[in-house]
Amino acid sequence: MRRLLIAGNWKMNCGPYDAAELLEGLKARKAEVDEQVDVLVCPPFVSIGMAVKYLYDTDIQVGAQNLHFEENGAYTGEISGSMLAESGCNYVIIGHSERRQYFGETDDSVNKRTQKALEHKLAPIICVGESLKQRKAGDHYDLVKDQVSAALEGISEEQVLDVVIAYEPIWAIGTGETASPEQAQEMHEHIRKILADLYNQEAADSINILYGGSMKPANAQELLSQPDVDGGLIGGASLDADSFSEIITIAE
Ligand code: 13P
Repeated sequence: MRRLLIAGNWKMNCGPYDAAELLEGLKARKAEVDEQVDVLVCPPFVSIGMAVKYLYDTDIQVGAQNLHFEENGAYTGEISGSMLAESGCNYVIIGHSERRQYFGETDDSVNKRTQKALEHKLAPIICVGESLKQRKAGDHYDLVKDQVSAALEGISEEQVLDVVIAYEPIWAIGTGETASPEQAQEMHEHIRKILADLYNQEAADSINILYGGSMKPANAQELLSQPDVDGGLIGGASLDADSFSEIITIAE
């Protein structure tokens, strides 16, 4: 019913030259993918053009890592949704924990960015997830519920069908520590229930919920086989053509 989505978040890595090299490698291994799987790379803004050019004849799609919620104007250093759409992006990551932590993004700005993305037909990948401290305090379920509800404020039943949620426990990002398949499944099930309460079961059943946090070939199978894990948002392992293609193969 739900197609899996394997998405690479390159973060602040790979300018156009390195992007070209990585994409060559990826293309050589995975120009075509199984029709049950969607594949996406999210390079930094300056390498989006290169990625769109390299991947035009493949099944691999291109997304961005952020967008601004204003349409255009005097916002030095920012990139708008219309610019991303015009550049060939289909997706945009919103509210990654690194953006919340280092760049002051809040649930409110995540909501505004989500609205803007949908307006420009960019599928928003909304990131949610708790810190280790919040998990230890037992606050993780409530926190994720608040994050999901706030991000989707004002998003209609029709629009929400284009939304992707990524559960990324902060303690598992770039640490080599992964949520166990059971921990991931529990939280994904919780998120689907939140979506069913906010909208309806049909919408909840059709929305992709990705797992992110040290996903790699060695643990992808276990995580992706969980019933509510619909793909991965992959950081470190997406910077290596072999590892990323291996994860795609596992998903297929
Ligand atoms: P890592 O796969 O490097 O842990 O990063 C996960 C992530 O933050 C993806 O958005």
